Amino acid sequence: MRFVDEYRDPAAARIVLEQIRRLVGDEHHTFMEVCGGHTHTIYRHGIEHVLPEAVELVHGPGCPVCVIPMGRVDDAIAVAEQPGVMFTSFGDMMRVPGGNGNLLEAKARGADVRFVYSPLDALRLAVEHPDREVVFFAVGFETTAPSTALTLLKARADGVTNFSVFSNHVTIVPPIKAILDSPDLRLDGFLGPGHVSTVVGNRPYRFVPEQYGKPVVTTGFEPLDILQGVQMLLAQRREGRCEVENQYSRIVRDEGNPRALAALAEVFELRPHFEWRGLGFIAQSALKLNSDFAAWDAELRFDVPGVRVADPKACQCGEVLKGVIKPWECKVFGTACTPQTPIGTCMVSSEGACAAYYNFGRLHREVSVSVGAGRPS
Ligand code: SF4
Repeated sequence: MRFVDEYRDPAAARIVLEQIRRLVGDEHHTFMEVCGGHTHTIYRHGIEHVLPEAVELVHGPGCPVCVIPMGRVDDAIAVAEQPGVMFTSFGDMMRVPGGNGNLLEAKARGADVRFVYSPLDALRLAVEHPDREVVFFAVGFETTAPSTALTLLKARADGVTNFSVFSNHVTIVPPIKAILDSPDLRLDGFLGPGHVSTVVGNRPYRFVPEQYGKPVVTTGFEPLDILQGVQMLLAQRREGRCEVENQYSRIVRDEGNPRALAALAEVFELRPHFEWRGLGFIAQSALKLNSDFAAWDAELRFDVPGVRVADPKACQCGEVLKGVIKPWECKVFGTACTPQTPIGTCMVSSEGACAAYYNFGRLHREVSVSVGAGRPS
């Protein structure tokens, strides 16, 4: 297949669904989709409503905005409000609530906060405004971290000194391990993260079948990708196999992207610990600038409070991020917490499970699904 439409073909979806029905058997199967992009596709296309009831999809911690704890948002606001700073961020992060409001509210109070589409946009602002200190709020997994790394390499090469990065980049393997070690959840396999795997490849997931006995299928983001990923997981279980497979082979290579990995290695090092929303502190799960790039490290250039802030009592993002509850099971879902008035991070980004369910999933409970017939009886 070559075009996106072919990955949304209802006739092809029905064929894969028929294969899924044949593979299900009498067991219940719980699979976690790690990536927020998967969650978005699943709700947008009503996929969970066409799967047999014995196949349950739970959502993992793969939305980069969702896993940022409130304290890091407050740190970002503290930097943004320092004199002379022009603080830049992706649009999603502007509405993520910290203990001290969000970046949009800081902007309303007078801070110079601007949204950018890429770290290169932020670097361009630094070049255009040599009298200002331009800070980039870097978030994301290994998917987006290479663009931050390449921007820092360019800043060094071009001698741009009024630019710095507040790094909140995180890595994908430690949270998967934390979830596997969690007593809260029983999983039978993973739809592996397609975006991250374009950079890191498939090899880092081998510990999942080898040490935990769970299959992984790295999966793409169109409806047929998701269905085929589920079908491949079920086939492994039915055939008694347990391995890492690659459904997204049109994009993902086993070895990943060596040039992107080299850029990451040149610029970043692992933090000893990093706090994840809902998962707590996880060792070696995030990236900081290494000593070669200390001059561009916002955490060294500015006074960053580093205060830990507890989530609001009503917020159950942690349980959603671990797949322990579904978005609609949170007590404030759709009432106090909506995309317009988010209490938790999962309601902010389109990849957040709560936002995806609010925007698409609840509608699919009332109208027909887009990939074929309704859930089989
Ligand atoms: S509804 Fe809001 S508070 Fe509840 S889990 Fe979702 S984002 Fe968090």
